[in-house]
Amino acid sequence: MTRPARARIDLSALQHNFQRIQQAASGSRVMAIIKANGYGHGLVDVGRALAAADAFGVVTLDEAIALREAGFDSRIVLLEGFFGADDFPLVSGYGLDVVLHHSSQIDLLERTPPAGTLDVWLKIDTGMNRLGFAPADVSSVIGRLARLDGIGNLRLMSHLACADDPENDYTSLQLNRFMEATQGLHGERSLANSAALLAWPDTRLDWVRPGIMLYGASPLLNRTADELGLRPVMTLATRLIAVNRHQAGDAVGYGGDWVCPEAMNVGVAAIGYGDGYPRHAPSGMPVLVNGKRTSIIGRVSMDMICIDLRSQPDAGIGDEVVLWGEGLPVDDVAARAGTIAYEILCSVNNRVHFDYMT
Ligand SMILES: *Cc1c(COP(=O)(O)O)cnc(C)c1O
Repeated sequence: MTRPARARIDLSALQHNFQRIQQAASGSRVMAIIKANGYGHGLVDVGRALAAADAFGVVTLDEAIALREAGFDSRIVLLEGFFGADDFPLVSGYGLDVVLHHSSQIDLLERTPPAGTLDVWLKIDTGMNRLGFAPADVSSVIGRLARLDGIGNLRLMSHLACADDPENDYTSLQLNRFMEATQGLHGERSLANSAALLAWPDTRLDWVRPGIMLYGASPLLNRTADELGLRPVMTLATRLIAVNRHQAGDAVGYGGDWVCPEAMNVGVAAIGYGDGYPRHAPSGMPVLVNGKRTSIIGRVSMDMICIDLRSQPDAGIGDEVVLWGEGLPVDDVAARAGTIAYEILCSVNNRVHFDYMT
């Protein structure tokens, strides 16, 4: 028998969430963001289920190549572009789009013009102050590109820093800067991530770039995924591999910092931080045992967590434990672990067995 830690990936929920995006941004094309192994859900399986997307966004060449090798012929965008001129043969060989965000990348193109035609997404910094050209430099950058051979379509993009907060005017400021910086320029425009396409209609423009909402987590601070009509795609589950009776005063797990207040059953479930479950999940973190809510006790170990079974005296070895997903929103788990759903979803690693359900 294999170790019971499993991620069930509900591809019909993924497609449902994609349709939510198409409804919300019906006038825009969709670049489905599947970087970081499809936010931990599996790159190629997620990509296949999203065949209706107009493009895919990834970060590494390896991801882009894996998609091409699996037969994907749609537009694939490298969201940080290339990292050196040695990437050029693969970028052109596999027909990938690149984001250009820095003049050093244009220096490389001038020095070593790549073969074929390169479609470019020019990234403008409108206030995230991370990647991108300053709005004042955009026309000179476009001039440099125009003098190069082999530059195909040019598209214009920027990224928003605060779109998850519908009350934060910084998004309007970034939108205004973007519209100003791109005024009169040819080329399709793209600004919105998941949060913006839901909460900031004016940011939808020609292309939206949803990531997290595809996977059924909420991109907005003030709304749950359920309220937004999103369905969880990953359900992370395992089973109890031991149930032991302990006495009042017995300390459970590393450091012994959780002490049984009374005689009680403690379950041990086969999942831990070695699988991607957050090590900082505190005692009290909810889990479902046989569909009913209870909580973890003591520290998360590499391979195991301990579970309070006082409310479920009949729970036994082999019973199912759900860590998040169906019935237990990943956003709640993330908040209690002091992080965001993005991080815990893409932390689930290949020690967990993935089952894809259509
Ligand atoms: C990751 C990423 C996105 C997706 O953001 P979500 O908040 O997951 O919707 C969009 N655009 C760019 C450039 C990204 O890197």
